[in-house]
Amino acid sequence: MSRAEELAARLSRVRDRIASACGAAGRDPSEVSLIVVTKYFPASDVRLLADLGVTDVGENRHQEAEAKAAETTDVPVTWHFIGGLQSNKAAAVARYAGVVHSVDRAKLVGALDRGAAARGGAVDVLLQVSLDPPGREGRAGADPADVPALADAVEAADHLRLRGLMAVAPLGEDPEEAFARLADVRAAFLADHPDATWLSAGMSGDLEAAIAAGATHVRVGTAVLGSRPAVQ
Ligand SMILES: *Cc1c(COP(=O)(O)O)cnc(C)c1O
Repeated sequence: MSRAEELAARLSRVRDRIASACGAAGRDPSEVSLIVVTKYFPASDVRLLADLGVTDVGENRHQEAEAKAAETTDVPVTWHFIGGLQSNKAAAVARYAGVVHSVDRAKLVGALDRGAAARGGAVDVLLQVSLDPPGREGRAGADPADVPALADAVEAADHLRLRGLMAVAPLGEDPEEAFARLADVRAAFLADHPDATWLSAGMSGDLEAAIAAGATHVRVGTAVLGSRPAVQ
């Protein structure tokens, strides 16, 4: 099997999973966008994926993402930055990423805004919410209590568009329970920001639970591309 055939077969299984999950949740599959996470895989896979109709790709490390985006400027895909963001890299990320999912502190906002302005456009922003218990080691994402102030900071930035929320289910917890908490955080958030309707949640292992909880964007890596190399 060629790489293109392999990707086509896995992509079609993932699209079927999304359609079934939408069916089970009484949702229209057109409400859920697939972002294929290409981290650790080469730019050639991005080209093959685009040929297979993929319009959105995700990366979690700036250097790798920047290089891959530069190698594929002729490929019509939107780059989603989904990883932990350092404030000294944020402006650079905003130069190639159309969507940044991982905004979790106000310090990132000014730099992202400057990067977006330098590119001469606007960047779509999602606020990453932590679903971990407070105080957990290596916690990524804003505390739900800090989301309102963070949302206000993004809304005040001229070149950023507040689109919604993003989260990752904590390891070792039933994703349905984690995504139920996320749905509550989102309901409160939507009361203040009714237009910021995107919810980025769900990966290869838990996309069904995320779609049941209202995800509008799923971020799927291994189920499309295969296992990542063990050394990361
Ligand atoms: C790697 C990654 C994914 C994709 O994970 P898979 O389990 O390979 O589907 C999704 N979201 C984030 C934030 C990631 O870093």
